[in-house]
Amino acid sequence: MRNISASYIFTGKGSLLKNGIIKLDNNGFVLDVIDTNGLIEETPQLEHYNGIICPGFINAHCHLELSYTKGRFEKSENITGFITQMIKKRESNKTDHEESIFIADSEMQRNGIVACGDISNTEKSFVVKTNSKIRYYNFIEVLGLNENDSNYIINKGKEIQQVALRTNAGDSSISPHASYSLSLKLLEAVKENAEKTKSIISFHNQESKEEAGLFSNTPNNLTYILNNIGLTENTFPKTNKSSLESLMHYLPNQNNILLIHNVFTESKDIELANKYFDYHFWVFCPKSNLFISNTLPNIPLFMQNTDNICVGTDSLSSNNTLSIIEEIKVIQNHFPQISLELLLQWSTINGAKALKMDKLIGSFEKGKKPGVNLIYNLDLLNLKLTNNTDIKVLL
Ligand SMILES: [Zn+2]
Repeated sequence: MRNISASYIFTGKGSLLKNGIIKLDNNGFVLDVIDTNGLIEETPQLEHYNGIICPGFINAHCHLELSYTKGRFEKSENITGFITQMIKKRESNKTDHEESIFIADSEMQRNGIVACGDISNTEKSFVVKTNSKIRYYNFIEVLGLNENDSNYIINKGKEIQQVALRTNAGDSSISPHASYSLSLKLLEAVKENAEKTKSIISFHNQESKEEAGLFSNTPNNLTYILNNIGLTENTFPKTNKSSLESLMHYLPNQNNILLIHNVFTESKDIELANKYFDYHFWVFCPKSNLFISNTLPNIPLFMQNTDNICVGTDSLSSNNTLSIIEEIKVIQNHFPQISLELLLQWSTINGAKALKMDKLIGSFEKGKKPGVNLIYNLDLLNLKLTNNTDIKVLL
Protein backbone atom coordinates (compact mmCIF):
# COMPACT_ATOMS: atom_id res chain seq x y z
CA MET A 1 0.00 0.00 0.00
CA ARG A 2 1.14 3.58 -0.68
CA ASN A 3 0.14 6.73 1.18
CA ILE A 4 0.92 9.73 -0.98
CA SER A 5 0.61 13.33 0.06
CA ALA A 6 1.66 16.67 -1.42
CA SER A 7 1.29 20.41 -0.92
CA TYR A 8 -2.01 19.99 -2.76
CA ILE A 9 -4.09 17.12 -4.12
CA PHE A 10 -6.32 17.63 -7.15
CA THR A 11 -8.89 14.84 -7.04
CA GLY A 12 -10.36 15.34 -10.53
CA LYS A 13 -12.91 18.02 -9.80
CA GLY A 14 -13.37 20.98 -7.46
CA SER A 15 -10.89 22.66 -5.14
CA LEU A 16 -7.43 21.50 -4.27
CA LEU A 17 -6.98 19.66 -0.96
CA LYS A 18 -4.12 21.23 0.98
CA ASN A 19 -1.81 18.52 2.33
CA GLY A 20 -4.38 15.87 1.35
CA ILE A 21 -3.51 12.17 1.31
CA ILE A 22 -4.39 9.44 -1.14
CA LYS A 23 -4.15 5.79 -0.19
CA LEU A 24 -3.60 3.27 -2.96
CA ASP A 25 -3.22 -0.50 -3.01
CA ASN A 26 -0.24 -2.26 -4.57
CA ASN A 27 -1.98 -2.39 -7.94
CA GLY A 28 -2.63 1.36 -8.03
CA PHE A 29 -6.32 1.27 -7.12
CA VAL A 30 -7.52 4.13 -4.93
CA LEU A 31 -8.52 2.99 -1.44
CA ASP A 32 -9.22 6.39 0.08
CA VAL A 33 -8.82 10.13 -0.35
CA ILE A 34 -8.28 12.04 2.88
CA ASP A 35 -8.91 15.75 3.32
CA THR A 36 -6.65 16.65 6.24
CA ASN A 37 -7.96 20.24 6.28
CA GLY A 38 -4.40 21.31 5.66
CA LEU A 39 -2.99 19.70 8.80
CA ILE A 40 -0.63 16.84 8.30
CA GLU A 41 1.26 14.90 10.92
CA GLU A 42 4.55 13.13 10.45
CA THR A 43 3.42 9.59 9.79
CA PRO A 44 5.67 6.65 8.98
CA GLN A 45 5.43 5.46 5.36
CA LEU A 46 3.82 8.67 4.19
CA GLU A 47 5.42 10.00 1.01
CA HIS A 48 5.15 13.78 0.93
CA TYR A 49 5.92 15.87 -2.16
CA ASN A 50 6.31 19.53 -2.90
CA GLY A 51 3.81 20.25 -5.67
CA ILE A 52 0.38 19.08 -6.78
CA ILE A 53 -0.66 15.46 -7.10
CA CYS A 54 -3.27 14.80 -9.76
CA PRO A 55 -4.73 11.80 -11.61
CA GLY A 56 -3.15 10.66 -14.89
CA PHE A 57 -3.82 12.94 -17.85
CA ILE A 58 -6.09 12.16 -20.80
CA ASN A 59 -4.88 13.25 -24.23
CA ALA A 60 -8.20 13.72 -26.01
CA HIS A 61 -6.70 14.18 -29.48
CA CYS A 62 -3.60 12.78 -31.12
CA HIS A 63 -2.49 11.20 -34.41
CA LEU A 64 0.25 8.72 -33.43
CA GLU A 65 0.56 7.67 -37.08
CA LEU A 66 2.00 11.05 -37.98
CA SER A 67 4.80 10.84 -35.40
CA TYR A 68 7.35 10.23 -38.17
CA THR A 69 6.79 13.78 -39.44
CA LYS A 70 8.15 15.37 -36.24
CA GLY A 71 10.18 18.47 -37.13
CA ARG A 72 9.47 18.21 -40.88
CA PHE A 73 6.80 20.89 -41.12
CA GLU A 74 7.33 24.61 -41.17
CA LYS A 75 5.14 26.93 -39.12
CA SER A 76 2.31 28.16 -41.33
CA GLU A 77 -0.09 31.10 -41.16
CA ASN A 78 -3.20 29.15 -42.13
CA ILE A 79 -4.52 25.66 -42.83
CA THR A 80 -3.79 25.73 -46.57
CA GLY A 81 -0.06 26.18 -45.87
CA PHE A 82 -0.25 23.18 -43.56
CA ILE A 83 -2.30 20.94 -45.91
CA THR A 84 0.07 21.70 -48.80
CA GLN A 85 3.02 20.51 -46.71
CA MET A 86 1.03 17.45 -45.57
CA ILE A 87 0.34 16.41 -49.16
CA LYS A 88 4.05 16.78 -50.06
CA LYS A 89 5.64 15.27 -46.96
CA ARG A 90 3.24 12.47 -46.04
CA GLU A 91 4.52 8.96 -46.71
CA SER A 92 7.89 10.25 -47.83
CA ASN A 93 9.63 7.75 -45.57
CA LYS A 94 7.66 4.68 -44.61
CA THR A 95 10.34 2.75 -42.80
CA ASP A 96 10.48 4.78 -39.63
CA HIS A 97 6.75 4.76 -38.84
CA GLU A 98 6.61 2.13 -36.16
CA GLU A 99 9.69 3.30 -34.32
CA SER A 100 8.44 6.89 -34.26
CA ILE A 101 5.06 5.70 -32.92
CA PHE A 102 6.83 3.74 -30.19
CA ILE A 103 8.89 6.80 -29.21
CA ALA A 104 5.77 9.01 -29.20
CA ASP A 105 3.86 6.55 -27.00
CA SER A 106 6.79 6.43 -24.56
CA GLU A 107 6.91 10.23 -24.48
CA MET A 108 3.23 10.37 -23.56
CA GLN A 109 3.77 7.85 -20.74
CA ARG A 110 6.65 9.92 -19.36
CA ASN A 111 4.41 12.98 -19.46
CA GLY A 112 1.79 11.29 -17.28
CA ILE A 113 -0.76 10.52 -20.00
CA VAL A 114 -2.79 7.39 -19.18
CA ALA A 115 -5.36 7.46 -21.99
CA CYS A 116 -5.56 8.87 -25.46
CA GLY A 117 -8.13 9.41 -28.18
CA ASP A 118 -6.04 8.66 -31.24
CA ILE A 119 -6.92 9.20 -34.87
CA SER A 120 -6.00 6.17 -36.97
CA ASN A 121 -6.20 6.20 -40.75
CA THR A 122 -4.48 2.81 -40.90
CA GLU A 123 -3.51 -0.02 -38.54
CA LYS A 124 0.13 1.14 -38.29
CA SER A 125 -0.11 2.17 -34.64
CA PHE A 126 -1.83 -0.96 -33.35
CA VAL A 127 1.25 -3.02 -32.42
CA VAL A 128 2.51 -0.22 -30.17
CA LYS A 129 -0.96 0.29 -28.69
CA THR A 130 -1.37 -3.40 -27.88
CA ASN A 131 1.77 -3.29 -25.77
CA SER A 132 1.34 0.17 -24.25
CA LYS A 133 0.32 1.12 -20.71
CA ILE A 134 -1.79 3.89 -22.24
CA ARG A 135 -5.45 3.03 -22.92
CA TYR A 136 -6.34 4.05 -26.46
CA TYR A 137 -9.62 4.85 -28.10
CA ASN A 138 -9.04 4.55 -31.85
CA PHE A 139 -10.95 6.91 -34.07
CA ILE A 140 -10.74 5.15 -37.44
CA GLU A 141 -10.88 8.24 -39.54
CA VAL A 142 -12.63 8.31 -42.90
CA LEU A 143 -12.63 10.99 -45.58
CA GLY A 144 -13.49 11.33 -49.25
CA LEU A 145 -15.23 13.98 -51.32
CA ASN A 146 -16.38 11.67 -54.13
CA GLU A 147 -19.69 10.25 -52.99
CA ASN A 148 -19.36 7.16 -55.19
CA ASP A 149 -16.52 6.02 -52.92
CA SER A 150 -18.60 6.10 -49.71
CA ASN A 151 -19.34 2.38 -49.37
CA TYR A 152 -15.77 1.41 -50.13
CA ILE A 153 -14.42 3.90 -47.58
CA ILE A 154 -16.76 2.75 -44.81
CA ASN A 155 -15.95 -0.91 -45.48
CA LYS A 156 -12.22 -0.17 -45.43
CA GLY A 157 -12.74 1.54 -42.04
CA LYS A 158 -14.58 -1.53 -40.74
CA GLU A 159 -11.68 -3.74 -41.81
CA ILE A 160 -9.26 -1.58 -39.81
CA GLN A 161 -11.63 -1.83 -36.84
CA GLN A 162 -11.43 -5.60 -37.08
CA VAL A 163 -7.64 -5.41 -36.86
CA ALA A 164 -7.91 -3.18 -33.75
CA LEU A 165 -10.21 -5.74 -32.18
CA ARG A 166 -8.04 -8.71 -33.13
CA THR A 167 -4.84 -7.10 -31.87
CA ASN A 168 -6.40 -5.75 -28.67
CA ALA A 169 -5.32 -2.21 -29.58
CA GLY A 170 -8.28 -0.58 -27.80
CA ASP A 171 -11.90 0.29 -28.59
CA SER A 172 -12.57 1.90 -31.93
CA SER A 173 -15.14 3.72 -34.01
CA ILE A 174 -15.51 4.93 -37.58
CA SER A 175 -15.13 8.68 -37.37
CA PRO A 176 -15.43 11.57 -39.84
CA HIS A 177 -12.27 13.62 -40.49
CA ALA A 178 -13.40 17.22 -40.89
CA SER A 179 -16.03 19.58 -42.25
CA TYR A 180 -14.16 19.99 -45.53
CA SER A 181 -13.21 16.42 -46.42
CA LEU A 182 -16.33 14.21 -46.55
CA SER A 183 -19.15 14.13 -49.08
CA LEU A 184 -22.61 14.42 -47.55
CA LYS A 185 -23.25 10.79 -48.51
CA LEU A 186 -20.18 9.65 -46.58
CA LEU A 187 -21.15 11.80 -43.60
CA GLU A 188 -24.60 10.20 -43.61
CA ALA A 189 -23.09 6.72 -43.76
CA VAL A 190 -20.81 7.53 -40.81
CA LYS A 191 -23.76 8.90 -38.87
CA GLU A 192 -25.87 5.80 -39.51
CA ASN A 193 -23.02 3.53 -38.47
CA ALA A 194 -22.37 5.57 -35.31
CA GLU A 195 -26.02 5.49 -34.28
CA LYS A 196 -26.14 1.74 -34.80
CA THR A 197 -22.95 1.04 -32.86
CA LYS A 198 -23.38 3.80 -30.23
CA SER A 199 -19.73 4.65 -30.75
CA ILE A 200 -17.75 7.76 -29.81
CA ILE A 201 -17.09 10.14 -32.70
CA SER A 202 -14.37 12.71 -33.30
CA PHE A 203 -14.66 15.60 -35.79
CA HIS A 204 -12.11 18.29 -36.70
CA ASN A 205 -14.27 21.38 -36.39
CA GLN A 206 -13.57 24.92 -37.62
CA GLU A 207 -9.81 24.59 -37.45
CA SER A 208 -9.53 27.20 -40.22
CA LYS A 209 -11.56 30.21 -41.23
CA GLU A 210 -11.46 29.03 -44.86
CA GLU A 211 -13.85 26.15 -44.02
CA ALA A 212 -16.82 28.53 -43.86
CA GLY A 213 -16.03 29.61 -47.45
CA LEU A 214 -16.92 26.13 -48.75
CA PHE A 215 -20.54 26.82 -47.81
CA SER A 216 -20.67 30.14 -49.69
CA ASN A 217 -20.25 31.06 -53.35
CA THR A 218 -16.86 32.67 -52.79
CA PRO A 219 -13.97 30.25 -53.40
CA ASN A 220 -10.80 30.58 -51.32
CA ASN A 221 -7.40 28.88 -51.13
CA LEU A 222 -8.88 25.83 -49.39
CA THR A 223 -11.45 25.45 -52.20
CA TYR A 224 -8.64 25.40 -54.78
CA ILE A 225 -6.68 22.72 -52.90
CA LEU A 226 -9.78 20.56 -52.46
CA ASN A 227 -10.72 20.94 -56.14
CA ASN A 228 -7.70 18.75 -56.85
CA ILE A 229 -9.03 15.96 -54.65
CA GLY A 230 -12.65 15.81 -55.71
CA LEU A 231 -14.42 18.94 -54.46
CA THR A 232 -17.05 20.21 -56.90
CA GLU A 233 -19.54 23.05 -56.74
CA ASN A 234 -22.20 20.57 -55.67
CA THR A 235 -20.29 18.87 -52.86
CA PHE A 236 -21.57 21.19 -50.13
CA PRO A 237 -24.82 23.14 -49.80
CA LYS A 238 -24.31 26.90 -50.22
CA THR A 239 -25.89 27.94 -46.93
CA ASN A 240 -23.83 31.07 -46.25
CA LYS A 241 -23.62 29.71 -42.72
CA SER A 242 -20.67 28.38 -40.76
CA SER A 243 -19.39 24.89 -41.54
CA LEU A 244 -20.64 23.57 -38.21
CA GLU A 245 -24.11 25.02 -38.65
CA SER A 246 -24.23 23.72 -42.23
CA LEU A 247 -23.18 20.16 -41.35
CA MET A 248 -24.37 19.68 -37.77
CA HIS A 249 -27.39 17.61 -38.74
CA TYR A 250 -25.16 15.21 -40.66
CA LEU A 251 -23.50 14.28 -37.36
CA PRO A 252 -25.09 11.97 -34.77
CA ASN A 253 -26.55 13.90 -31.81
CA GLN A 254 -26.87 11.18 -29.19
CA ASN A 255 -23.35 9.77 -29.34
CA ASN A 256 -20.40 11.19 -27.41
CA ILE A 257 -18.78 13.53 -29.93
CA LEU A 258 -15.40 15.23 -29.61
CA LEU A 259 -15.28 18.48 -31.57
CA ILE A 260 -11.60 19.14 -32.18
CA HIS A 261 -9.88 22.58 -32.45
CA ASN A 262 -12.85 25.00 -32.69
CA VAL A 263 -10.51 27.88 -33.47
CA PHE A 264 -13.05 29.82 -35.54
CA THR A 265 -16.16 28.73 -33.63
CA GLU A 266 -18.42 31.62 -32.64
CA SER A 267 -21.06 32.01 -29.97
CA LYS A 268 -23.91 31.12 -32.37
CA ASP A 269 -22.16 27.82 -33.23
CA ILE A 270 -21.73 27.05 -29.55
CA GLU A 271 -25.40 27.76 -28.81
CA LEU A 272 -26.60 25.62 -31.72
CA ALA A 273 -24.24 22.78 -30.80
CA ASN A 274 -25.42 22.88 -27.19
CA LYS A 275 -28.99 22.52 -28.40
CA TYR A 276 -28.36 19.80 -30.97
CA PHE A 277 -25.79 17.50 -29.33
CA ASP A 278 -26.54 15.60 -26.12
CA TYR A 279 -22.93 14.65 -25.26
CA HIS A 280 -20.44 16.91 -27.04
CA PHE A 281 -16.99 17.85 -25.84
CA TRP A 282 -14.93 20.81 -27.07
CA VAL A 283 -11.33 19.63 -27.42
CA PHE A 284 -8.57 22.25 -27.59
CA CYS A 285 -5.07 21.64 -28.96
CA PRO A 286 -3.52 25.11 -28.45
CA LYS A 287 0.09 24.40 -29.41
CA SER A 288 -1.03 22.92 -32.74
CA ASN A 289 -3.31 25.91 -33.41
CA LEU A 290 -0.44 28.33 -32.84
CA PHE A 291 1.74 26.29 -35.20
CA ILE A 292 -0.84 25.96 -37.99
CA SER A 293 -2.73 29.24 -37.88
CA ASN A 294 -0.97 31.34 -35.26
CA THR A 295 -4.19 31.81 -33.33
CA LEU A 296 -6.17 30.23 -30.50
CA PRO A 297 -9.85 29.50 -29.92
CA ASN A 298 -11.73 31.97 -27.75
CA ILE A 299 -11.77 29.54 -24.82
CA PRO A 300 -13.55 31.85 -22.31
CA LEU A 301 -16.48 32.05 -24.78
CA PHE A 302 -16.97 28.28 -24.50
CA MET A 303 -16.72 28.42 -20.71
CA GLN A 304 -19.80 30.66 -20.53
CA ASN A 305 -21.87 27.84 -21.93
CA THR A 306 -20.37 24.52 -20.98
CA ASP A 307 -18.17 22.52 -18.66
CA ASN A 308 -17.34 19.95 -21.33
CA ILE A 309 -13.86 21.03 -22.34
CA CYS A 310 -10.93 18.65 -22.92
CA VAL A 311 -7.30 19.03 -23.96
CA GLY A 312 -5.35 17.29 -26.72
CA THR A 313 -1.89 17.51 -28.20
CA ASP A 314 -2.71 16.88 -31.88
CA SER A 315 0.12 15.19 -33.80
CA LEU A 316 3.87 15.73 -34.00
CA SER A 317 3.29 17.24 -37.47
CA SER A 318 2.08 20.41 -35.78
CA ASN A 319 3.55 20.05 -32.29
CA ASN A 320 6.99 19.40 -30.83
CA THR A 321 5.70 17.71 -27.63
CA LEU A 322 2.99 15.25 -26.66
CA SER A 323 2.37 16.69 -23.23
CA ILE A 324 -0.87 17.86 -21.64
CA ILE A 325 0.97 20.04 -19.11
CA GLU A 326 2.66 21.93 -21.99
CA GLU A 327 -0.77 22.51 -23.60
CA ILE A 328 -2.33 23.90 -20.44
CA LYS A 329 0.68 26.17 -19.87
CA VAL A 330 -0.18 27.80 -23.21
CA ILE A 331 -3.85 28.15 -22.23
CA GLN A 332 -2.89 29.65 -18.86
CA ASN A 333 -0.47 32.12 -20.44
CA HIS A 334 -3.08 33.37 -22.93
CA PHE A 335 -6.06 33.24 -20.58
CA PRO A 336 -4.67 33.83 -17.06
CA GLN A 337 -8.20 34.15 -15.64
CA ILE A 338 -8.76 30.37 -16.01
CA SER A 339 -8.02 28.61 -12.71
CA LEU A 340 -5.51 25.79 -12.45
CA GLU A 341 -8.23 23.56 -10.96
CA LEU A 342 -10.31 23.98 -14.09
CA LEU A 343 -7.35 23.35 -16.42
CA LEU A 344 -6.62 20.14 -14.52
CA GLN A 345 -10.26 19.08 -14.66
CA TRP A 346 -10.20 19.47 -18.46
CA SER A 347 -6.98 17.42 -18.53
CA THR A 348 -8.24 14.53 -16.41
CA ILE A 349 -11.89 13.67 -15.67
CA ASN A 350 -13.36 15.53 -18.66
CA GLY A 351 -11.21 13.63 -21.16
CA ALA A 352 -12.05 10.36 -19.38
CA LYS A 353 -15.77 11.14 -19.71
CA ALA A 354 -15.42 12.02 -23.40
CA LEU A 355 -13.73 8.67 -24.07
CA LYS A 356 -16.14 6.84 -21.70
CA MET A 357 -13.27 5.70 -19.50
CA ASP A 358 -14.34 7.57 -16.36
CA LYS A 359 -15.36 4.42 -14.48
CA LEU A 360 -11.68 3.54 -14.17
CA ILE A 361 -9.59 6.68 -14.70
CA GLY A 362 -9.74 10.49 -14.59
CA SER A 363 -10.14 11.08 -10.85
CA PHE A 364 -9.08 9.90 -7.40
CA GLU A 365 -12.16 7.98 -6.33
CA LYS A 366 -12.41 4.70 -4.48
CA GLY A 367 -12.04 1.74 -6.84
CA LYS A 368 -10.48 3.66 -9.74
CA LYS A 369 -6.96 3.19 -11.05
CA PRO A 370 -6.24 6.63 -12.48
CA GLY A 371 -2.44 6.84 -12.31
CA VAL A 372 -0.69 9.39 -10.10
CA ASN A 373 1.18 12.45 -11.41
CA LEU A 374 3.26 14.91 -9.43
CA ILE A 375 3.28 18.42 -10.91
CA TYR A 376 6.36 20.21 -9.58
CA ASN A 377 8.23 23.47 -10.04
CA LEU A 378 5.09 25.54 -9.98
CA ASP A 379 4.13 28.79 -8.28
CA LEU A 380 2.32 27.28 -5.31
CA LEU A 381 1.55 30.65 -3.75
CA ASN A 382 -0.50 31.82 -6.73
CA LEU A 383 -1.35 28.31 -8.02
CA LYS A 384 0.10 28.97 -11.45
CA LEU A 385 2.20 26.82 -13.75
CA THR A 386 5.59 28.28 -14.65
CA ASN A 387 7.82 27.71 -17.69
CA ASN A 388 9.77 25.19 -15.60
CA THR A 389 6.76 23.22 -14.37
CA ASP A 390 7.17 19.52 -15.10
CA ILE A 391 5.61 16.12 -14.41
CA LYS A 392 6.86 13.13 -12.52
CA VAL A 393 4.86 9.93 -12.81
CA LEU A 394 4.57 8.43 -9.31
CA LEU A 395 2.35 5.50 -10.20
ZN1 LIG B 1 -6.21 16.21 -35.61
